[in-house]
Amino acid sequence: MHLRETELALGLIDNTIVILVAMKPEAMPIVEALGMELGGRLHPCYPIEHYSSVKRPHIHLVINGVCPRFGVDNVASQPATIAAFLCIERLHPSILLNAGTAGGFQSAGSSIGDVYLSYPKVYFHDRRIPIPGFQEFGLGSYPCPDVRPIAKALGVKTGSVSTGNSLSSITEDLEIMKGYEGRAKDMEAAAIAWVAEQHHVPFFAIKAITDLVDTDKPVQEAFLENLATASAQLALKTVEVVEYLESHGIPALDGTERMEPKCEAIDPRI
Ligand code: SAH
Repeated sequence: MHLRETELALGLIDNTIVILVAMKPEAMPIVEALGMELGGRLHPCYPIEHYSSVKRPHIHLVINGVCPRFGVDNVASQPATIAAFLCIERLHPSILLNAGTAGGFQSAGSSIGDVYLSYPKVYFHDRRIPIPGFQEFGLGSYPCPDVRPIAKALGVKTGSVSTGNSLSSITEDLEIMKGYEGRAKDMEAAAIAWVAEQHHVPFFAIKAITDLVDTDKPVQEAFLENLATASAQLALKTVEVVEYLESHGIPALDGTERMEPKCEAIDPRI
């Protein structure tokens, strides 16, 4: 056994990887590729599903689940925030990953099926609060670990991921994304990044492009047409990311030591 494998076997290295996915069609190819099985829900009030595998007990996959009222996948920032919190509280990840699909930009050289790792940052493009301090808070700009070596090894791209609560875009959103060179437009990553930041858990997103935001084709048409092929590509690269992390370890945030979460001033009356 190599030193790293020995250390892993002895439990000296923290290597719990949790992959959070919004939609079932995005998640199932990953579940199958990793040979995972449904364990149950993470909380009785939410349809958030937990998958794991006996062979690789340090890897977990969590799906936001289906909305009981509308019968569709629980996409966008609220379900992602709750799911991220439960992932961290219940599964104690060494790293939290968000795998999913996203809109790309033809003007930045993106094509359908391209896979991006979020770097350097993840932003919100639809929290427009033009008041000093709140403006920056709205954008979020959550930093990701330096995943460029992983992207290079896997032959995928890096770019900032930009999150909002709409599939369609308005001009203002597009201008904001241009300001920080957003390369993948989704509906969950920044919400998850915010939770991960509160808990000092490293986070990055893996996004496969289903549609191009800056072409004439309506994004919803392209999304539905390309969801299956982009999800297959997403699964392939997510498994490779997991294998890379298993052999190289968990990357820390740029230039910072990993911090232990500090829980201060919890109200003793609750
Ligand atoms: N019309 C779809 C709705 C899914 S919402 C359906 O019928 O199933 C789109 C999902 O894919 C979100 O989870 C989001 O993160 C991602 N996504 C893909 N392309 C996107 C884009 N152009 N803008 C925002 N999110 C996008």
